[in-house]
Amino acid sequence: MPAYRRVLLKLSGEVFGGGQVGVDADVVGSIAQQLAEVVNSGVQVAIVVGGGNFFRGAELQQRGIDRDRADYMGMLGTVMNCLALQDFCEKAGLETRVQTAITMGQVAEPYIPRRAERHLEKGRVVIFGAGSGMPYFSTDTVAAQRALEIGAEVLLMGKQGADGVYDADPRTNPDAVKFNELSCDEFLARDLKVADATAVSLARDNALTMVFFNLDVPGNIMRVINGEEIGTFVRP
Ligand code: UDP
Repeated sequence: MPAYRRVLLKLSGEVFGGGQVGVDADVVGSIAQQLAEVVNSGVQVAIVVGGGNFFRGAELQQRGIDRDRADYMGMLGTVMNCLALQDFCEKAGLETRVQTAITMGQVAEPYIPRRAERHLEKGRVVIFGAGSGMPYFSTDTVAAQRALEIGAEVLLMGKQGADGVYDADPRTNPDAVKFNELSCDEFLARDLKVADATAVSLARDNALTMVFFNLDVPGNIMRVINGEEIGTFVRP
């Protein structure tokens, strides 16, 4: 029995690329299959898609590209991921809509929150792209903002290569210890890098719970939605 009626799932670009530049069809196809199971159980699913598998503004800036322009490149990269996810979701039998924060009428609807809610009520998966449309933000922050604006009950942070929040990076530090639960304040005080601090403070200030979990294990999206205590709960 699902524990939530409406969820916002954040998928980072790293997930889409399977650690590479571009889109890994097997990974995106598997996520779409998992989403079909979730939607068919009656849960409304909105998704914010990252773009780090194409461009990250801060990295391009280090290579000499103006930060604002680099961030727009980053935002455009997220839209390519949205279209890939849309395609695999539709092949898995789901109805979908992509909404972008930068208008591009030929490929997506503009971001209209009330219309997004209407789509969700009809059982459509709504995929949000182009971040906030504003440089200097991250898609983590947009995920928290969209979750709040469309009334999602929880923000699900799907991760690759880690099954929750650790006190150090588990990929480089074998002694890293996993938290089952922690507060937003503790997350911020420890300066943990697994999510953007702006996103966590937005969640704290608006009573939104975040759940970090491992997307590498098929079925985990449904497990989290069913209330299984996998991953890490970051509570306001
Ligand atoms: N970005 C931005 N404004 C936003 C969201 C994203 O400028 O509101 C840019 C930023 O350059 C970022 C890139 O888009 O590095 C890709 O997003 P993000 O790094 O959040 O993707 P993820 O790490 O989740 O793959």
